[in-house]
Amino acid sequence: MKEFRDDAVVLRTYKSGESDRVVVLWTRSHGKVRVLAKGIRKATSRLGGNLETLAYVNVDLVKTRGDFYIARHVSHTQRLTTLRSSYARINAGYAVVEVVDAIPSDDVADEAIFDLLTRVLLTLDDDYFDPTLVPTSFYFKLLTLDGSGPVVDECVNCGRDVPLVAFDAQVGGALCGDCRSGVSMSSDALTLIRRIVGGDLAGVLRGEVPAGAGEVMAIALDAIEDHFGKRLRASRSTPPLAPSAGS
Ligand SMILES: [Zn+2]
Repeated sequence: MKEFRDDAVVLRTYKSGESDRVVVLWTRSHGKVRVLAKGIRKATSRLGGNLETLAYVNVDLVKTRGDFYIARHVSHTQRLTTLRSSYARINAGYAVVEVVDAIPSDDVADEAIFDLLTRVLLTLDDDYFDPTLVPTSFYFKLLTLDGSGPVVDECVNCGRDVPLVAFDAQVGGALCGDCRSGVSMSSDALTLIRRIVGGDLAGVLRGEVPAGAGEVMAIALDAIEDHFGKRLRASRSTPPLAPSAGS
């Protein structure tokens, strides 16, 4: 039997049989794994509380027959208490893990994704940052990691440095008036995307939600759905833009 210890984030869990659950993890060194948690739904289960969605844990895993692993010695790497104290933060976390779960890379380790995912969870756990634009920023970072980051410095079609007025996820970026397709985009939204992908993410997430945020959230969601060819339920059920987005 192959046994190993790894850091992991719980992407989701689902019922299996009478009292078991399957826990889907993204691990640091072994990619996505599915854990069969026997008896986890019983009140006495020790694993139950440690393997909830969004948990950031360190875990011993043993490969069983088939595709499943068994978890032993689960401990929390971070408790994420601030994240868990706010619906806005939890919902933002769900929108992020739903996308990670959509990444088609079973058993292919991707430490870069793990690092990005855990940075996002720690950001959501920090009340210095507003959660509203965290999923949006995560989508753009993930696209960039996959080599599909949005082109927003020039028209993605003609390459000219002229005013950009539209965004087309299928073309991969912003477009000028002559090349326009996709959805129209305000200059506030363009400025905001440039800040997110251009290194001012901390500034974007601090304080008031910036102008153009609702537009940029819709653009990023379209882009990530287009990338994975999948509709995202948790992300779509998050209110477009909460009036008081604090926490
Ligand atoms: Zn153009």
